[in-house]
Amino acid sequence: MNMQTTDVTTAAVHTRVEDVKLYIDGEFMDAAQAVTFENINPFTNQLINLVAEGRAKDIDKAVAAANEAFVRGPWGSMKVAQRMKYINRIADLIDEEIEEIAILESLDTGLPISQTRNMVARAAENFRFYARMVQTKLHGEAYPVDNEFLNYTVYKPIGVVGLITPWNAPFMLETWKVAPALATGNTVILKPGELSPLTANKLAKIIDKAGLPNGVFNVVHGFGETAGARLVEHPDVRAISFTGETTTGSIIIKNSADTLKKTSMELGGKSPLIVFEDADLERALDAAVWGIFSFNGERCTSNARVFLHKNIKDQFISALKERVANIKIGHPMDPSTELGPLIGKEHFNKVKSYIELAKQEGCEVVQGVVPEEVKDGNFVPPTLLLNAKNDMRVCQEEIFGPVMAVIEFESEDEVIAAANDVKYGLAGFVWTNDIKRGHRIAFAVDAGMIWINAQNVRDLRIPFGGTKASGIGREGGHYAIFEFYTEPKVIHVALGDHHIPQFGKVKE
Ligand code: NAD
Repeated sequence: MNMQTTDVTTAAVHTRVEDVKLYIDGEFMDAAQAVTFENINPFTNQLINLVAEGRAKDIDKAVAAANEAFVRGPWGSMKVAQRMKYINRIADLIDEEIEEIAILESLDTGLPISQTRNMVARAAENFRFYARMVQTKLHGEAYPVDNEFLNYTVYKPIGVVGLITPWNAPFMLETWKVAPALATGNTVILKPGELSPLTANKLAKIIDKAGLPNGVFNVVHGFGETAGARLVEHPDVRAISFTGETTTGSIIIKNSADTLKKTSMELGGKSPLIVFEDADLERALDAAVWGIFSFNGERCTSNARVFLHKNIKDQFISALKERVANIKIGHPMDPSTELGPLIGKEHFNKVKSYIELAKQEGCEVVQGVVPEEVKDGNFVPPTLLLNAKNDMRVCQEEIFGPVMAVIEFESEDEVIAAANDVKYGLAGFVWTNDIKRGHRIAFAVDAGMIWINAQNVRDLRIPFGGTKASGIGREGGHYAIFEFYTEPKVIHVALGDHHIPQFGKVKE
């Protein structure tokens, strides 16, 4: 592990790092009311550091700075090529500090270092991707009307945008919003998840180092009900891009109504993975196990419900049991760790309570074993809920931990009905070697994203998002820049002297 870093010292997982401040108008500062909150290490449940707790006054200050930067600052009028130099510079700086960012992310969230390293590399690519896209694809349309008119569209940034993000995969999710927001010329206030402030702070440092004009990018740490709520209700914030729980999304939509904000919602999920008897079972197994137990099970698109055809169910379950017994549980900084601790005690208790509920609902619970030496961490072992039925609460509610419910099915119609009988609609996965059936299932399962014979791999060009209670709108690709972070403006030009009615004109 490269420990030549400014924030992290040896034995990183037991380490305290420097306290986190707010980043407003190009300066790192304490909260206006000088309040802080504690940031706790999921592996040790000890203090990592204190974080400045922004509240309404801090949000107001950040919005004023972002508004000034948008309206009068150089950002709004800057040439696109110059703006993209800044965006690419952010990507280069992330690349230079991948190791430190990955360590901070694992320290803060308990995600295994082998997984945070990959996520950070993708975060840099978010900036490069949107720099390329804005330069080459952000163009309007032209509608000539005979020789009389030319109507054309241009895409303009919205203004000050508020980005509210969760604690799971924070750096990846934050950069996925920040990159298109900045590349299209908006100014930004980021309100990161309060349980994972470290890499948002690192992003502020990187953006500061990249030299963006003051006020273009701001980070206000704090709690949802105070800092987040003020950002949502602030009249000068034009749009809110939110990722988090479905219930929070619904509160945000209500609270943004008075100021008629544009909102984008990436919410929870309870995604099905369906395995037919003709599937490549070994690959389906790899995908099912990775899909729920990577990122410690704290992944919105995880396959929390696995539907197995009755003819392969027993065989598949015995392979699942073997995998679950062997998944490497441990220290997030150990490169061989596959499953780390959950983000915090409250979430740990919630996940454990769902496992108890599964027993009451009649599931057989099969779990791996948490090694004695890591018992101080918030570890929930990889867990299978066998004999599950789709209408059980453990199959209907998002648990957001390393818990897979296994449900048997017999017919295609039956599994489609069960897969769709849930309030969420984020993702879905189908494993079959019958190509026609694969497409039929993909069409029929009600979700924003379906993978056929594939694990959860993503391409930055495609839309990302869910249906039903999993969200409204899409992120990614051109959806982010055309449909959310810009507004189309139509310009009508008369090419000749078309007829204009002459109301009130006295006839000669
Ligand atoms: P959360 O909803 O509790 O919090 C998310 C963010 O919202 C935090 O920054 C929080 O402070 C803020 N917030 C809370 N109340 C608020 C309010 N009243 N006004 C404004 N902001 C408020 O979610 P979480 O527990 O941090 O994250 C886990 C959830 O996120 C899961 O449900 C998961 O499925 C979802 N998620 C969805 C996606 C997706 O793309 N669909 C991706 C990742 C996570």
